[in-house]
Amino acid sequence: MYLAGKFIADAEHHSLTRYLDHAQELTLNSGHKIPVIGLGTWQSKPGEVQQAVEDAIDLGYRHFDCALAYENEGEIGQAIAKKIQEGVVTRQELFVTTKLPPVLIEPTLVREGFNTSLKRLGLDYVDLYLLHNAISINRDYIKTLPPGSVLKRPEDPSKFFRNVDHVAVWHELEKLVDEGLVRSIGVSNFNQQQLQRLIDHGRIKPAVLQVECHAYFPQHDLLAFCQRHHVVLEAYSPLGSPQRWGGNASGPVLLEDQVLTDIAKKHGRTPAQILLRSLVERGVVVLPKSVNKVRLQQNLQIWDFHLDDDDKHKMEHMGKNGKRLIDYATWVDSPNYPFQALL
Ligand code: NAP
Repeated sequence: MYLAGKFIADAEHHSLTRYLDHAQELTLNSGHKIPVIGLGTWQSKPGEVQQAVEDAIDLGYRHFDCALAYENEGEIGQAIAKKIQEGVVTRQELFVTTKLPPVLIEPTLVREGFNTSLKRLGLDYVDLYLLHNAISINRDYIKTLPPGSVLKRPEDPSKFFRNVDHVAVWHELEKLVDEGLVRSIGVSNFNQQQLQRLIDHGRIKPAVLQVECHAYFPQHDLLAFCQRHHVVLEAYSPLGSPQRWGGNASGPVLLEDQVLTDIAKKHGRTPAQILLRSLVERGVVVLPKSVNKVRLQQNLQIWDFHLDDDDKHKMEHMGKNGKRLIDYATWVDSPNYPFQALL
């Protein structure tokens, strides 16, 4: 792969070409290209997300990470349609991802979830379709529970969760590719064993694994596994998700870490730029979320500097205890819960 302008012959990385100083995209095992920076849209509220996506397209973003569960695909679709109509961008230049939520992770429900996203986004295909999580929630049962129950630890896990066969669901995603409705397919919040099972039993190999990944949770082993299998790892919450779960979460604020802010000062960059740069230098796709035009622009400006060995060593130290900031601990009773095994 290209690293700091030089081609490094490395069989394990041969699918991760055109990288870093030259181009800002990777090639997926499906043959399609993915822009290395994508705009996150979780918690981007209706009323603000349309403007954010329009600004992002004007600034040069071409990759958008969406999900049915974020309940904002309609506005994102309107922003995309407007920018295509204005001639700022073509559909082919965009890379749009969306995800099948846990309540629909069941073979017979895939089509319903996919069609809903496609309609809301106003598209006739998506570039990447992901299973949002390894767990599957019984939609009929949660309809009988009070609103908000989906994020609480269930009293009756045997009714709340389905024990889903990921391979059977995966075959439904493969059909979407066969029909030209989806270009590439992948998963999110799967552990290594769960991903391996799809690699072994799927007809189409997963192109992407999207997981939490940042300086406090660097995912070294999982990234090495993905690179061995030519699966691109996408980092969600690359800035440590300071507003996670509506701003109610406890835990450290990654962007305020003293080691990080010192490195940022040294380079005359923002802490967010350092975090994003450190991930892309590892061959990871980053999905920073912002609805603020200044921060949207800053998060794109990471291609004109390098982290040196001292910076890398210090950042390595930040992640040595592996702190997950976003977890789904309330879903720990699911038979498919992904995070018990070491990721
Ligand atoms: P994040 O991108 O780590 O952090 C976003 C937060 O940081 C927002 O509050 C944003 O505020 C702020 N921010 C953005 N740029 C900044 C900058 N330059 N300086 C200071 N603050 C900045 O968090 P995330 O939303 O959790 O993760 C990113 C995306 O990953 C999501 O939006 C979603 O698309 C995806 N995701 C996927 C999963 C999954 O289960 N697959 C889970 C979590 C996230 P402003 O908007 O006000 O700028």
